[in-house]
Amino acid sequence: MNLTNKYGYRRSIVRAIEKDPYTKGASDFSVTELLQPSRQWALKKQYQEKLTEDVDDRLWALFGTGVHRVLEEGADPRDLVEKRFFMKLANHTISGQIDLLEHDTLDLCDFKTSSVWAFMAGREAKDEWTAQLNMQLELLRFNGLDAKKLFIIGVLRDHMESKASSDKKYPQMKIVEREIEMWPREKTIDFILSRIESHAKALKELPRCKASEAWAGRRCARYCIVNTYCDQYQGSKKTGLLEGETTT
Ligand code: SF4
Repeated sequence: MNLTNKYGYRRSIVRAIEKDPYTKGASDFSVTELLQPSRQWALKKQYQEKLTEDVDDRLWALFGTGVHRVLEEGADPRDLVEKRFFMKLANHTISGQIDLLEHDTLDLCDFKTSSVWAFMAGREAKDEWTAQLNMQLELLRFNGLDAKKLFIIGVLRDHMESKASSDKKYPQMKIVEREIEMWPREKTIDFILSRIESHAKALKELPRCKASEAWAGRRCARYCIVNTYCDQYQGSKKTGLLEGETTT
């Protein structure tokens, strides 16, 4: 991955981003990768050496790392914090890092540094949050552990108190929790197997992203690192549409 610095951020910020640790360990797929659209995942593999990302686009990820690190340092020593687990399924090694498993409640929590809109009252939990936490739960179970409840904990980086007092749908607190539905184990295993199969197929024949995966083009334009190499997106820029996709 090559890092650019189009706004000329100060050296110390660039260095912090260069050192921002992420590893999926010795695994074939991480939980994060399984959640990615198969087209995006396959293009990343194909163009790994050529991909570039700008410092500016990495800043919120760096912010997230900072929040995780502080929480890790302040954690109860009996809790499981920031630990990567592995499991073997269909001859593939899957890994995933859990943020927090509280020893007394057995709450499995994942922290998201997020903008407020994802946590406005009435908004459904994102499908990918549900899939992510259920896959993490399965990793725990494969390793002889368990959880009783699943939570996404949003740390809202753009929270404004003035809006909280005038809009009841606006999150009233800067850190909000969303309980996540726990799937039956078979559903989680089926989900993981179907994602592995979809990714493996994508290496042979690139599928198209559905509109729901491409967030109707928003992900392509702003959040997809392979967009330069994606002819689906490049083609859609000419028409103004992510044409031919279903919304399922
Ligand atoms: S640019 Fe859009 S269509 Fe292409 S892989 Fe990324 S998300 Fe999918």
